[in-house]
Formats: sequence, C-alpha cells, structure tokens
Amino acid sequence: MKRMTCFQDDFTVKTNKVKEIILITDQVADVVKRSGIESGICLVYAKHTTSAISINEAVDPSVRLDLVTAFNHLSPQLEQYRHMEKNSPAHVLASLVGPSEAIPVRDKALFLGTWQGIYFCEFDGPRIRKVCVQVLG
Ligand code: ZN
Repeated sequence: MKRMTCFQDDFTVKTNKVKEIILITDQVADVVKRSGIESGICLVYAKHTTSAISINEAVDPSVRLDLVTAFNHLSPQLEQYRHMEKNSPAHVLASLVGPSEAIPVRDKALFLGTWQGIYFCEFDGPRIRKVCVQVLG
C-alpha cells in the first residue's frame, strides 16, 4: 500500500477594505503544483475569526461585489451585540461562511469547475491575513 504524503505551505493576503473578496486560486494552485501530489485533497484554511474561505464564480468580478452587498445585509451591526471589539458582524459572517474549503486534487491540479475560483473573504479589514494550504495525497 502506498504511504500517504502531505505537503503544506502558507501565504499572506493583504486586504484593502473592511469587506472584500479576493481570488486566491492561483496561490493555492501553485502550492498544489509544488506538492507534486497527483491525486488527493487540498485543504485551504484561514486561521482567523473574522475572515473565511469560499468557492464561487471567478470570472465576473461583479459577483464578488454582489456577495459583499449581500454580506452587509446578512450581518448588520446590531444594538444588542455585547462583544467589546464591536466587530460582531464580522464574527457572524466568519461562522456562516466557514474557515476552510476542501478541493479534490486530480492529475496534479485543483479539480475546480470551469467558473469556480477560491475566495478569501475579508470581513474586518484592511489587514494582513494568512492562508494555510495542506495537500494530502
Ligand atoms: Zn472581535
């Protein structure tokens, strides 16, 4: 039986707005390529409490802007919030969207759909963020 292998790397994402969606498909694909793993799973993980990882339409940038509009409606600032840091709307969105995505790796590449791309979702920027990638094969 073939032994399982794991390759890992991190990269940073500089965000420029309070809420922003940044495509990170190329950075993740680069880690997968360097891993040399032919078949397996790529885990993309953000180790933050006010950001998230998602997968969605990567070709038309207006989809990303529309999602930011939707996020603003989904999680407004509420008077009832108690958190001292005053960024509870961002914590709520981080939980709703989630900190990670798992993507199949086939033929040494991300097995994404034609229109799919990997999003880094900033909910409390601007900040310097870190994305961790684990490729298991
Ligand atoms: Zn907070």
